[in-house]
Amino acid sequence: MIFRLRAFALPVALLLVVPAATHQDDPPLRGFTTANAKIQREWEAKFRAIPDPARMREAMRRLSLRPHHVGSPYDKENAEWLRAQFASYGFDATIERFDVLFPTPLTRVLELVAPTRFTAKLEEPALREDPTSDQKSEQLPTYNAYSADGDVTAPLVYVNYGVPADYETLERNGISVKGAIVIARYGGSWRGIKPKVAHEHGAVGALIYSDPRDDGFGAGETYPAGPFRPKDGVQRGSVMDMPTYPGDPLTPDVGASAGAKRLERADAVTVMKIPVLPISYADAQPLLAALSGPLAPAAWRGGLPITYRLGPGAARVHLKLAFDWSLKPLYNVIAKLPGSTNPDEWVIRGNHHDGWVNGAEDPVSGAIAQLEEARAFGELVKQGWRPKRTIIYAMWDGEEPGLLGSTEWVEQHQDELRRKGVFYLNSDTNGRGTFGMEGSHALERFANEVARDIMDPETNKSVGARERASRVVGGNKEARTRSDLRIGALGSGSDFTPFLQHAGVPTLNVGFGGEDDGGIYHSIYDSYYWYTHFSDTSFVYGRALAQAAGTMMMRVADADVLPEEFGNLSETARGYIGELKSLRDNTAKEIEELNLQLAEGAFAMVNDPRRPTVPPKPQPPAPVLNFAPLDNASIALDSASSRFEKAYGALPSANAMAASLAPVNALIRQSDQVLLLPEGLPRRPWYRHSLYAPGYYTGYGVKTMPGVREAIEQKDWKLADAEIVRIAAALTRESDLITRAAALLEQATGAKPVP
Ligand SMILES: [Zn+2]
Repeated sequence: MIFRLRAFALPVALLLVVPAATHQDDPPLRGFTTANAKIQREWEAKFRAIPDPARMREAMRRLSLRPHHVGSPYDKENAEWLRAQFASYGFDATIERFDVLFPTPLTRVLELVAPTRFTAKLEEPALREDPTSDQKSEQLPTYNAYSADGDVTAPLVYVNYGVPADYETLERNGISVKGAIVIARYGGSWRGIKPKVAHEHGAVGALIYSDPRDDGFGAGETYPAGPFRPKDGVQRGSVMDMPTYPGDPLTPDVGASAGAKRLERADAVTVMKIPVLPISYADAQPLLAALSGPLAPAAWRGGLPITYRLGPGAARVHLKLAFDWSLKPLYNVIAKLPGSTNPDEWVIRGNHHDGWVNGAEDPVSGAIAQLEEARAFGELVKQGWRPKRTIIYAMWDGEEPGLLGSTEWVEQHQDELRRKGVFYLNSDTNGRGTFGMEGSHALERFANEVARDIMDPETNKSVGARERASRVVGGNKEARTRSDLRIGALGSGSDFTPFLQHAGVPTLNVGFGGEDDGGIYHSIYDSYYWYTHFSDTSFVYGRALAQAAGTMMMRVADADVLPEEFGNLSETARGYIGELKSLRDNTAKEIEELNLQLAEGAFAMVNDPRRPTVPPKPQPPAPVLNFAPLDNASIALDSASSRFEKAYGALPSANAMAASLAPVNALIRQSDQVLLLPEGLPRRPWYRHSLYAPGYYTGYGVKTMPGVREAIEQKDWKLADAEIVRIAAALTRESDLITRAAALLEQATGAKPVP
């Protein structure tokens, strides 16, 4: 009854369904008329009362009971169990299958063969305290997915984090890794960057270890006594070249369905070209201790009780790896709650369900919140609630190997997403602490508004207030004055990437964290025991995540006008342009200073004859870049945003009909789509967003306005000028869209058009 009334005559429905939860002085709700805001707040209050920590605990115990990696029996069982849960909540729930390249290890051998012999254990031992740690027969061994097969014996070289800057330091020390096996420590970048850069410098193999200073006893008490990585703990993980494109390596840009055309494995550029293996710090120590040669720079020295040296010298390593390269099935769980009035507008929520082993923290801690949101929606539907737009709850498979499930789904449905995609909300791991918000900056205001309405379980303040306080305490003065907390820009590392950076769906990624630390990431110790002893032990932050994410979904699903606000986007873009100008100027100064030092012969004079270093090469001066196209586009974006915001201001008191607002929403939902670059980014066309991408050499870390920023970093000045023009064109498309939406909104609300 209520649902229908709400569908056809919005204002009238106000009076009929009012339980007493709201207050006269409630602030306006972005996207709602005052009348509808009242209804919305009541449904939200009902919703937020439902998520239950005890049910989350039980769901985590169940989902992390056995190893559930891609292709494992329990991964399939979990998908079927999740589908059944969603169906029992009243969702139209199905499993969507894809078949992807996911290698699993057949052979793993790592030995130090000179100057002494040592055979690496490559095993994580079971622990008496942790009941699920002894499931050896079902556990994936420790390995890096998409490493090449290989059998190499070569000198060992220590390369710190193994990022490009580290190779410049090695070069300055006259050290080449050509024909060598490199050993890098985890951290500093996406793990796939390490073998990629090593291969670019001629290495024939790579090892990645968890150094105890960052990730072990140097950080705190180790497991099981404490949360940090024990000596035999290993971080499994994909080394796919995800910054080139994520997803199934054999089917870039198309869904890996049964009949899809697949590349030959040899032609799949995201598969590594050299063998690479992750190891524990217990296995790494004898290898690093065997290194001779120059002392490692102070910043490269970790927490092991050895002298860190660079090599190469007498230390030689034998690395032999072989993999089963057969295709494996992915089981995405897709659960739909069809919209009442706008069924062709999709509001999507996602969290992955696959783990590397038992995956309690990663990903189950986020998945259980998503499950409780869906159960609560089922309860509201029983009470008469029905979302206007279609809500889709997705549990992705194959996130760990390289965002496989979400990417294949987006590639498979990209035409529909282009026509129907309104919002994508992602989560992954969840713990205790403050509320992290990242994503499309046109949703910054919206995210802040929700954060104001969710209570933090430890302080009874809003999660927004707690996040603000933590920033102020952290020295961020702006956080005290700026009305909206800035949200982070998205690089990569979870399932938001295909939605935002390939399909251009307005996207947010959320989760709590920062209070607990630990070192069980991607190991057998990421278990129910670990989580219930060292993380959100009472699942109250699980409930807070369900409340926050569920509220976001309800508001977008029922908003009269979609909640984008473009002033923050415009200000953020202007900030990026300023950063790019400084980056160009700082680079120019660095080159000038370097050439001056070379001309003065300074390097020769400070060279230590016993430890000679190779002087850097002179560089051509940095030319002036023409930022005018970006500056002009930024000015236009600013004025379009303020015109839109004025029109938006009239909404609460307006008596606008849904029909007249529909064309406004049809434009607003494309606000990330028009920021896409049709040809994609230089050397990686799969990434199309002009403002956000993971760095080509960071993998996780975001590069904003990546086309220009990375061209400047690479000192490719011609490319930088060309990318400035492309991004300016994208911003201009955005201003045009916003201006058109503002004009339609003025008509719909009767607001006076701004001359
Ligand atoms: Zn994850």
